[in-house]
Amino acid sequence: MVMMALLLFLAVFGPLGCDPRARTQPIDASAGGGEASGEARGETEATVRAAPPEGPEEADEAPKVRAQVYLVPLKAFPDDLLDAVEDALVREYSVEVIRREPEPLPKAAYYPPRKRYKADRLLDHLDRLAFEWGVPEDAKVLGVTEVDISVTTDEYPDWGIYGYGRTPGQVAVVSSKRLKRKAKDRGHVRFRVATLAVHEIGHTFGLPHCDEHEQRCPMLDAEGGIENTDSSTGKLALGCRARLNRNAPMPK
Ligand SMILES: [Zn+2]
Ligand SMILES: [Zn+2]
Repeated sequence: MVMMALLLFLAVFGPLGCDPRARTQPIDASAGGGEASGEARGETEATVRAAPPEGPEEADEAPKVRAQVYLVPLKAFPDDLLDAVEDALVREYSVEVIRREPEPLPKAAYYPPRKRYKADRLLDHLDRLAFEWGVPEDAKVLGVTEVDISVTTDEYPDWGIYGYGRTPGQVAVVSSKRLKRKAKDRGHVRFRVATLAVHEIGHTFGLPHCDEHEQRCPMLDAEGGIENTDSSTGKLALGCRARLNRNAPMPK
């Protein structure tokens, strides 16, 4: 997926090199390759010469991304779910996703009574990894894992959750464990995991839970169940998108 994205990127932006001279060569080459006769050739060349010259500002155009997201499996995470997460984050946030090799789960986050991992300690661990890797301040780190995760709440000492993210912040985590329960098929699991990734990364961009129920926004509170995830469009509604663009505008 990373390679595909890179190839696509090169395909789109490749001809727009920094050197304006590089711009003219591919056009000349393609114009020369398709003609069948001398006449056609003459027309084609005339057309190419008549084309307005490219401005330097266009030649300098670089791909625009809102931020980078480092995607890191904690212990392991299936490829199809990683692809679904990457696709959704690129689509909703215009981010560049950087895939990391899997990292071991930190022992300090393990909660033996329920055999699961404390999400706040996983976030602390992701903070440390971000520091170790030299992740830029405005980039995000999303941990994805198949193990069950939980938080301590006022009411419950150990409350199982789908995901957890700092609001605003740099780190978030999503677990597929509960998202696989009663899923109709694998595509349904992919949708849920991708929607949760959009939700948690939304938190890191400073998006709180919203009230865009009618628009079925992915930033609705899960309210202790999967229904709001399952009925979500998976796409940020207008209110959340406006807030995102205020909090983390696209570069000009
Ligand atoms: Zn949330
Ligand atoms: Zn919303």
